Amino acid sequence: MTARPDPAVLDRLRLVMGPAGVLDSPADTAPFRTSFGGIFRGEAALVLRPASTQEVAEVVRLCAEGRIPIVPQGGNTGLAGGAQPDGSGASVILSVDRMRKVRAVDVVNDTLTVEAGVTLAEVQAVAERVDRLFPLTLASEGSCRIGGNLATNAGGTQVLRYGNMRALALGLEVVLPDGRIWDGLRGLRKDNAGYDLKQLFIGSEGTLGIITAAVLRLFPRPRATATTFAAIPDPAAAIAFLGLAKARLGDSLSAFELMRAPSLAHAVAAVPGLASPFAEAYPWYLLVEASAQEAGEGLGSALEGLLAQGLEEGLVLDAVIAASGAQRRNLWALREAQAEAQAHAGKGVKHDISVPVSAIPAFVARADAALLARFPGILPFTFGHVGDGNLHYNPVMPADWTDEMRPARAGEINRIVHDVVADLGGSISAEHGLGQLRVAEAEHYKSAVELDLMRAVKAALDPHGLMNPGKVLRAR
Ligand SMILES: Cc1cc2nc3c(=O)[nH]c(=O)nc-3n(C[C@H](O)[C@H](O)[C@H](O)COP(=O)(O)OP(=O)(O)OC[C@H]3O[C@@H](n4cnc5c(N)ncnc54)[C@H](O)[C@@H]3O)c2cc1C
Repeated sequence: MTARPDPAVLDRLRLVMGPAGVLDSPADTAPFRTSFGGIFRGEAALVLRPASTQEVAEVVRLCAEGRIPIVPQGGNTGLAGGAQPDGSGASVILSVDRMRKVRAVDVVNDTLTVEAGVTLAEVQAVAERVDRLFPLTLASEGSCRIGGNLATNAGGTQVLRYGNMRALALGLEVVLPDGRIWDGLRGLRKDNAGYDLKQLFIGSEGTLGIITAAVLRLFPRPRATATTFAAIPDPAAAIAFLGLAKARLGDSLSAFELMRAPSLAHAVAAVPGLASPFAEAYPWYLLVEASAQEAGEGLGSALEGLLAQGLEEGLVLDAVIAASGAQRRNLWALREAQAEAQAHAGKGVKHDISVPVSAIPAFVARADAALLARFPGILPFTFGHVGDGNLHYNPVMPADWTDEMRPARAGEINRIVHDVVADLGGSISAEHGLGQLRVAEAEHYKSAVELDLMRAVKAALDPHGLMNPGKVLRAR
């Protein structure tokens, strides 16, 4: 779909939105047309910024009439190019960034109803003000918005205990591709009255409709946190230690993050003020956190007991426990600096894979061996939410590869890594979605039956293919 939109329809959209809701100069639209990090860029006839569900519905209805494709956008922090249009200028971008209302807080039901443009950090703060926790935690939380979190089924560092956005949303309000509003804003924990429609829209990356509001689950605020940074010999030790941690800490285990030696060293080199907690270098590291409702010594002792057993069994080589809030933040800073570390190390080929937790050691061993056999100069670079079986496995290309060589080699690296993932029953996108980045890879690895089912859902909801075309699925 590359035809320029009818100027008469664009004028009607301008009229509906008013000056506050429309951007059309190249300078004003540039930040919306360009992705985080500048990797994906596109063209758009207009950027529309409705301030209410009714305005979204009106915009979508007019676009449906004029057959104008819509690219939904939240905080524009997505890493798969899902919020960027193609280069034709045929689409409009619909940003929910002016939809910022907190509609309801129900502390008895432990729910919060917010509009799609509320940032994740704002949601966390509203929950804190009523002495509750909204547990989704991402390094992009100051900018990403709840609509985008839902549309990508965001994960992050607390999935192990609380689940991803699929588990954190009880209800949704969605503007459908024909402009109708589906009010599914139910705050129910049990609801077996037919298909669970909200789950169709969660993770659909804007291809089935515009999420305008959501009912989110809240949790009791933990009163105590215990955090350790541990050096370990290899991924097999990480998974064995995860088993011990689950057995000893039970539900209080809330984060279990893995880093590899080069990625930690690059984080320390890239970010001023960061330091490794250890004098010597080890091959792999874990950041493990537990949290509990009751303040007191119990959690710290449980973590010490876990580490003692890990050391005794040779799973842990060395470890520090955070003795203060400041020390805890320093340990987390090492994990959160992995994006900067990646940039410092060189040009990486990024993967956001998941495999069954039990298959993590086999995945790393097989992917490393296959890559190093084909490209001996490659630098393994790995970090991620290993407690969920999710790794950002981002090998860094040798510095002497030229700009001309890199695209073809990156494609080859993707194929090597994703073949191992597929063979182990894994997924090529664990938390960032497919966007435009991984559409072709998904077509390669998904079965014909699965692709047919996805196309049938898309055709049923969006028969004219106007919602975020080219993302998740390509038209046949
Ligand atoms: C530093 C950094 C760290 C990150 N860490 C994590 C992490 O740990 N875990 C993780 O899961 N992700 C992570 N991300 C990726 C990103 O932050 C998440 O995908 C986030 O959920 C995207 O939200 P957003 O509002 O920025 O969405 P956008 O980037 O604006 O959009 C993402 C997708 O959702 C669609 N969309 C947006 N809003 C709506 C809506 N209202 N209705 C329908 N569709 C919509 C868009 O069309 C697009 O396809 C990270 C990103 C950065 C930059």
